[in-house]
Amino acid sequence: MESAFANAKKQLDAVAFILEADYSDKRKFKKALKLLKKPKRLIKKSLSLKLDNGKSGKFIAYRSQHNNARGPFKGGIRFHPNVSEDEVKALSIWMSVKCAVVGIPYGGAKGGVIVNPAKLSERELRELCFNYSKAFSPYIGPWKDVPAPDVNTGGREMAWMLESYERQIGNLSPATFTGKPLELGGSEGRTEATGLGGSYILDYYQRTKNRKNRETKIAIQGFGNVGYWFFKFASEKGFKIVAISDSGGGIYDENGLDVNKVLKIKKEYGSFKEASEKIKFEFITNDRLIRLPVDVLVPAALENAITKDNAQDIKARTVFEMANGPTAFEGEQILLKKGIDVLPDVLCNAGGVTVSYFEWVQNLYGYYWTKEEVNQRLKNIMDKAFLEIYEMKKKKNISFRLAAYSLAVKRIIDAMILRGRV
Ligand code: NAD
Repeated sequence: MESAFANAKKQLDAVAFILEADYSDKRKFKKALKLLKKPKRLIKKSLSLKLDNGKSGKFIAYRSQHNNARGPFKGGIRFHPNVSEDEVKALSIWMSVKCAVVGIPYGGAKGGVIVNPAKLSERELRELCFNYSKAFSPYIGPWKDVPAPDVNTGGREMAWMLESYERQIGNLSPATFTGKPLELGGSEGRTEATGLGGSYILDYYQRTKNRKNRETKIAIQGFGNVGYWFFKFASEKGFKIVAISDSGGGIYDENGLDVNKVLKIKKEYGSFKEASEKIKFEFITNDRLIRLPVDVLVPAALENAITKDNAQDIKARTVFEMANGPTAFEGEQILLKKGIDVLPDVLCNAGGVTVSYFEWVQNLYGYYWTKEEVNQRLKNIMDKAFLEIYEMKKKKNISFRLAAYSLAVKRIIDAMILRGRV
């Protein structure tokens, strides 16, 4: 399987064909595109940690700072055993594109630690967060690089990282991290923002297709922050969620699932596989979930869920990417040939970084908004981004991803040219 980084570069190459005509100075355009295919800076550190058993542990940590022509670097920090240099590089490219898609003044970055956090105690995890933030403190800050949560990190980890960073610099600096708990300057609506933003986009897309939400069946892969909240808000908008999974498999009910019941099962048994051995429901493997005869397939877990090996079997009419990079480049070409719409990650899951931006704005001026204000502003931004992409797609007769990339990459390259970087 190709790496996420190879996929990201292919996506940039694909859009180059469309964009090149817009630039009279081809040399500048090519130079800018070349720069976009790698991060501006990749920082790698080895973090030491005193483990509870008295031994010392070493963990490799990364921060990939891709581009900051449109604003400070911005992107989450992932704790996962499969984190790699290639993965953070790809994720940082997608962050630059995503921020430009929704028109918020940020560039792109991503961080990660190669670790299985489930194997660490709370004290070990706290120390890991403190060490990460300390090691990367020279490179982050409100006008440099603003980290946030990603897979296996959340408000708790951001609070620890903030504390460690502030100790380093000697003053408070809440705008350095987003996704913080409310008590520490977090924003109303941030936790659920990615799922809510996605539900706005799906709702708008349905209207362009003249499809009724009540008649639309959805399968979601992944039941973490993104999967859960997307499930909840899509249900509220009338969609019928028939399947949901975690890494070990999931639940299927063609008559529709109730988000609260599913959450209760997950909380009580830890995993759907574990639950299936104790209570009665139709268990489904992730392999089967991807191939279900639903209207919308929502990958909301990790990269490369859809590849050239399974794309041919997908029966959904729409793939709606809530995870980052869930569709490999070749997989997408197969889906498009089959007439399946692929709504890209850089649009669908941009709600999270959009409300992170609101959090940063609120921190910088020290005045806080209500949840209603946050959600209304989020809806305005998501709806505008969808409409721009939809119009571009129709005008140029291209895929949703190419439409999104052509708008976003142009915004980034224009900023690079204005700054005289190329
Ligand atoms: P999370 O850690 O809260 O949840 C991840 C979920 O995916 C878990 O339910 C896990 O069991 C499941 N999972 C892992 N491997 C799987 C597999 N092979 N098959 C099925 N399920 C699997 O993470 P999250 O924050 O929900 O992030 C999910 C995706 O969304 C990631 O790609 C992330 O980069 C992206 N994303 C997250 C945010 C955010 O605000 N949290 C914003 C934008 C994009």
